[in-house]
Amino acid sequence: MEKDCVFCRIVAGVKEEDKIWEDEEFIVIKDVNPKVDGHLLVIPKEHFRSFLNLSSEIGEKLFGVVRKVVGKLEMKDFNLIVNNGKFAGQLVGHFHLHILPRRKGDGFRLNV
Ligand code: AMP
Ligand code: ZN
Repeated sequence: MEKDCVFCRIVAGVKEEDKIWEDEEFIVIKDVNPKVDGHLLVIPKEHFRSFLNLSSEIGEKLFGVVRKVVGKLEMKDFNLIVNNGKFAGQLVGHFHLHILPRRKGDGFRLNV
């Protein structure tokens, strides 16, 4: 638990009904400012500042959690995004991965 970290506070106090998914190491919640309908955040419970700081255990489990969540919600079309570092647009300094469900004509543009 990192002082002044918004996601550490969420991990510590998130309401049961706001948890899309939870296991020992991760929670998945809705993004408060969704870019598309159903925009989710996969958040390790332990505070890691960025992708580069992730423990190998958490790094290895991350995609397993993504697969379970997209499977449970029967998502077929989605983008997975990590904004890593200031110049990549990372605003919250507690590692998280965005799941952006995509639908025909949703208007969301991702330029890579
Ligand atoms: P970024 O650090 O740019 O990858 O994105 C941070 C994301 O966290 C943004 O999409 C915010 O809308 C989202 N966010 C910030 N505070 C909260 C919160 N209290 N609950 C849910 N999502 C949040
Ligand atoms: Zn944190």
